[in-house]
Amino acid sequence: MTADDFGPVLAKAHAHATAYLTAQPERHVGARCSHAELDGVLRTPLTSRGEDPAAVIDLLAGQAGNAAVACGSPRYFGFVIGGTYPVALAADWLVSSWDQNAGLYAISPLCSVAEDVAGDWLLDLFDLPRESEVGFVTGCQMANFTCLAAARHGVLARVGWDVEADGLCGAPKVNIVTSAESHVTVDVALRYLGFGTRSLLRVESDDQGRMRVDRLQELMQTLEGPTIICAQAGNVNTGAFDPLREIAQLASAHGAWLHVDGAFGLWARASERLAGLADGIELADSWATDAHKWLNVPYDCGVAIVRHAEDHRKAMTSTAAYLIQTRGAERDPVDWVPEFSRRARGVPVYATLRALGRDGVRDLVERCCDRARQMAQALGAHPGIEILNEVVLNQVLVRFGDDDALTRAVIEGVQKDGTCWLSGTTWHGMGAMRISVSNWQTTEADAAASVAAILRVFEEVKRLGEA
Ligand SMILES: *Cc1c(COP(=O)(O)O)cnc(C)c1O
Repeated sequence: MTADDFGPVLAKAHAHATAYLTAQPERHVGARCSHAELDGVLRTPLTSRGEDPAAVIDLLAGQAGNAAVACGSPRYFGFVIGGTYPVALAADWLVSSWDQNAGLYAISPLCSVAEDVAGDWLLDLFDLPRESEVGFVTGCQMANFTCLAAARHGVLARVGWDVEADGLCGAPKVNIVTSAESHVTVDVALRYLGFGTRSLLRVESDDQGRMRVDRLQELMQTLEGPTIICAQAGNVNTGAFDPLREIAQLASAHGAWLHVDGAFGLWARASERLAGLADGIELADSWATDAHKWLNVPYDCGVAIVRHAEDHRKAMTSTAAYLIQTRGAERDPVDWVPEFSRRARGVPVYATLRALGRDGVRDLVERCCDRARQMAQALGAHPGIEILNEVVLNQVLVRFGDDDALTRAVIEGVQKDGTCWLSGTTWHGMGAMRISVSNWQTTEADAAASVAAILRVFEEVKRLGEA
């Protein structure tokens, strides 16, 4: 192969990608293939002589229409996924083409500076302390990990313990406070950091999944020594926000580190209309969020933000004799993330923020919330359908006939129907359909067509049940 070989195979990929993206808004949203079929197509003994690269690309692309779920569809409402902006995808293609190792400035001045600027724009957009440091990681799981590693360093350093050098054995005890409704990735991040899940102090939450401040206050009075509080902006089921200002005041009164998981909720700060939900969030010490969810850049991209640069850097930095590390204005991303070699995943963030501007991001966030409210109102007006949450953001929980089995049957029926895709959850012991609107492409008509499909399936399931 030679450098000339890039052209034909990339042209193929471009044609396949364009066809996929153009067909996506109209296609059946779910996957339509069995595991056996797909395995039969993809599995073959690894050949000795290899195959024609263009044929390999054709083979993979040929499966995407059926075997990939159309997560970028304007009528995909599963989990909290987010679509992809054209400019984000284009920038991501460039990142792959450049094949830069974004760990060190010396390897890629371009990626280092683009990410540095993108980080500053995020601080500005979220109105967080401008002295904070930003690391681009794979997702909010790793953003929680990075922030909580900085927190672990910070609270232990303040009592004279160097956790990076001496570890946790024999260290002063660190109290870790989470809520009954913390996202599972916060628990996992803490587990990776040596704080076993059984040791976590869980504060009760209210009917919307918000941490109860009265219970936190009671708990804080019983705690001494280094303490980390993990709060949440945007509950993965209800979209609810913990009362962040009150929690921040308690954290500050007790000298605790406050970390906020704002995987998608932090984006409420981009809208004046919604920012009040996250009131006081700027008082925290660290914030984890995702760009691959609500900013609609391709997977993967999470963002770790830490107010205290020294704690962040000490928890993450690595040095080795052969590294060429920088000082001053030139920034080595390796100092702010767990990864050593890494993809320049902040570059699509740079491109997307630059293309959208402040108004574009606000518009994206507000439109998604408007569509969520539209769907909640239309569904909730129908007899036998109940909306279980206060729709404050982009998340809606729907229950059918006040019945778990019926609700499950509607979810399955809607997935099979293919007009839209969504999944289920259990909320306070009740089965529910979960709708998350987080794609720039979702229009009022998409929301209406999806509601119509859900109602059609509901009537059908009821009819079959009565027969
Ligand atoms: C999605 C999500 C996470 C995990 O983010 P990943 O990007 O999947 O690692 C953490 N917290 C909340 C609230 C989430 O919604």
